Amino acid sequence: MRVPLLDLTLQYAGIRDEVTAAISRVCERQQFILGVEVEAFEREVAERLDVRHAIGVSSGTDALLVALMALNVGPGDDVITPTYSFFATAGCVTRVGARPVLVDIDPMTFNMTAEGLARAITPQTKAVIPVDLFGQAVDMDPVLAVARKHGISVIEDACQAIGARDRGRLLGGLGDLGCFSFFPSKNLGAFGDAGLVTTNNDALAQRVRLLRNHGQHPKYYHRIVGGNFRLDALQAAVLRVKLPHLAAWTDARRANAARYDRLFAEATNGSTQLRLAPPSADPTPRGVVSLPVARPDGFHIFNQYVIRVGDRDALRAHLTAAGIGTEIYYPVPFHLQACFASLEYARGAFRDAEAAAADSLALPIFGELTESQQRHAVESIVGFYC
Ligand SMILES: *Cc1c(COP(=O)(O)O)cnc(C)c1O
Repeated sequence: MRVPLLDLTLQYAGIRDEVTAAISRVCERQQFILGVEVEAFEREVAERLDVRHAIGVSSGTDALLVALMALNVGPGDDVITPTYSFFATAGCVTRVGARPVLVDIDPMTFNMTAEGLARAITPQTKAVIPVDLFGQAVDMDPVLAVARKHGISVIEDACQAIGARDRGRLLGGLGDLGCFSFFPSKNLGAFGDAGLVTTNNDALAQRVRLLRNHGQHPKYYHRIVGGNFRLDALQAAVLRVKLPHLAAWTDARRANAARYDRLFAEATNGSTQLRLAPPSADPTPRGVVSLPVARPDGFHIFNQYVIRVGDRDALRAHLTAAGIGTEIYYPVPFHLQACFASLEYARGAFRDAEAAAADSLALPIFGELTESQQRHAVESIVGFYC
């Protein structure tokens, strides 16, 4: 039995007619840049995310870049980010000429904490980018309180967390700006690159709109220097088809996560060779599996289902041989990346992130996964250790 990490063809099969009709509508109109499809998508997604403004952009990376530009972050500024995330979170900080200041993660959630933020603040700190990793919200209230106290801006990197909630509130409108990605593997995936910036701040929304289109208004009159960060009409049309399905697709992922939890509990019950344990700050020893911990006061959308295991690389090779797709998010934290050597962080600087990089493993979690596929994955993992 094959268990791919992700199979988008199954989702597509369920919406093929709607998608081809939407694409054909754009083809007939021959308006490909911004325009009515993008405007309609922006209205619909703003309503879905409960924010005043949603501005379609070219990718999640460009959403982060344009958010930093809108806040005038630049040379001489520090921006605090977790050291454990997708590269764009810190890469964009460097691209605007600012310095990434890194913080460790909480081993329970893989997310940064308010305590870490408070310790990292310097007189140069201009902004913080909390990342809702794997689809789970950062505990935002204490983060927002620290940010407010020090007068720093908050950019939510919710690229993996569309529809996730923190204490009942949808992400994207909690900080100054929210960033989302519609990379195909995200919970709401386009047919190519696409992204979104959200905000409840009218002035920031206006700046983001200007910046995504070369800072021009009206045409060929440039008020500020921006770039081409525009969302394509074709992507917007596809996203408009998918958006109404997002809630059901999210429920399917959550149900699959709960099923993994149950299958792992059953498979390890009474085993002397393998046991379940909560994640800890130390590297996971062989014979222990830690399942994802969902905050009771959050709504986890499981863009990824990431376990922590001892002897991870050998397990991964075993699973690959058994036809089970996995991925390592992420093998190298930012502070150990070659491109950030000039930041001068030492190995050992962020123990929790380094432990997670060494023992985390993402299992298939897409909505169309079947119970027998999940059972096969769990049995193969247990079989490796026992
Ligand atoms: C996917 C992702 C991004 C970047 O999004 P792209 O659309 O691929 O540019 C940024 N941050 C995080 C946490 C992501 O997962």
